[in-house]
Amino acid sequence: MDENVIAQIKAFVHLQAELGLRGVDTSFAPTFSAIDNAPQNLADVREELGDCQRCSLCTGRKNIVFGCGDAHARLMFVGEGPGAEEDRQGEPFVGKAGQLLNRMINAMGLSRERVYIANIVKCRPPGNRDPELDEIEACEPFLRKQIEAIKPDVIVALGRYASQRLAGSDIPISRLRGQWKSYAGIDLMPTFHPAYLLRNPSGKRPVWEDLQQVMRRLGLDAPGRRPRSM
Ligand code: SF4
Repeated sequence: MDENVIAQIKAFVHLQAELGLRGVDTSFAPTFSAIDNAPQNLADVREELGDCQRCSLCTGRKNIVFGCGDAHARLMFVGEGPGAEEDRQGEPFVGKAGQLLNRMINAMGLSRERVYIANIVKCRPPGNRDPELDEIEACEPFLRKQIEAIKPDVIVALGRYASQRLAGSDIPISRLRGQWKSYAGIDLMPTFHPAYLLRNPSGKRPVWEDLQQVMRRLGLDAPGRRPRSM
């Protein structure tokens, strides 16, 4: 139980004593279990994460890549895990794939500063290998807390790992993308990862269709043509 909750219990007991009540009448007491589970803000989540050593990815990282962007964003992007450049800078999606993601965001009429960007795991898997299940399971609770703090209207999952994990599905990403799913009660749109699009530019058209769906759900103007920059 944190100090806040203890202080609230003390204040409540003190009030009861001042009212001349003997014992503790809990009939109108705040629900302390609910306070315990009160949503954290992003700074609280970062503080709780600390110098995380909850999985083996901590041993090879330079930086924890927590996430970046608007703490009250309506749109959140979730990728797989940090690469070498992200690990070095401590910020998600800053390499070539990140530059393409920026262009995708700009094509939606938004900017990187107006959305929030995070990953399923916050430390770089060695050699850019896929994250293991135990690593995802150790890290995902913090992603969930970030999402609960930000309360976005829509989450876009980038790539197979993020899409399958957040959608709770093992359907291949080629069939999963473009279908509305839900994560923690929030609309979820799975789509291809920008790194995949760098290798397979033909995937840009379906991704643009997915982003158009997202724009419509957010009430944003959705231009029909894919901008040449994307
Ligand atoms: S990947 Fe996540 S759970 Fe694992 S050490 Fe890094 S922050 Fe902690």
